[in-house]
Amino acid sequence: MKIHDISMTLRPGMAVWPGDLPFERTIHTAITNGSDSNTSSLSLSSHCGTHVDAPLHFLPGGAGIDQLDMHKIAGPARVLDCTGRSVVDTSDLKGKLPAGVIPLLKTDSSSLPENAPFRDDYVCLTEGAARVVAESGVPAIGVDYLSVGGLQNGTEVHRILLKAGVLAIEGLRLADVSPGDFTLVCLPLKVAGGDGAPARAVLIEGSADKAGNFGG
Ligand SMILES: [Zn+2]
Repeated sequence: MKIHDISMTLRPGMAVWPGDLPFERTIHTAITNGSDSNTSSLSLSSHCGTHVDAPLHFLPGGAGIDQLDMHKIAGPARVLDCTGRSVVDTSDLKGKLPAGVIPLLKTDSSSLPENAPFRDDYVCLTEGAARVVAESGVPAIGVDYLSVGGLQNGTEVHRILLKAGVLAIEGLRLADVSPGDFTLVCLPLKVAGGDGAPARAVLIEGSADKAGNFGG
């Protein structure tokens, strides 16, 4: 069984959404300073690095991150090659989204350096593409920059997806993963009433059978 870690590494200087708090880690206790252990405190946005958007992020009264159906973000997934495009449009997704399978869109954004300031030329979905996703019966969609939508259409793209019950996993790193089928396990922190939360996400090669055993 092979596991691909497709999460961003949280560190100072990493790209964050414009206006969001920068990521910071402050040493709280240090063995080198005579403490028994090393501990630190973290300061970060709920949408820092690899993260999951809860419906509450854009839908008033929507479910919080602690109320997600975990089946939606842990299960069969397909990495789709969407490189070489400035946006992902309807024609990139039509007929390529089997119901129940989480599409992970690998774009040129996965090749942007991870430890770099925010770039506004990241690859996002058009509203039409979001509608194709919303009508396809997929439980979630994964993208490889900090938002499924662009700076102009982001609100509408999120609303189309979240209203249809499609969760958004954002900030994945897919450059080292070939297109194909995997099992995704994505685990956002369980924050009470949270609008979103950072997550560790991995792809497992081979799909699990009904007993939970992995082949391949
Ligand atoms: Zn988000």
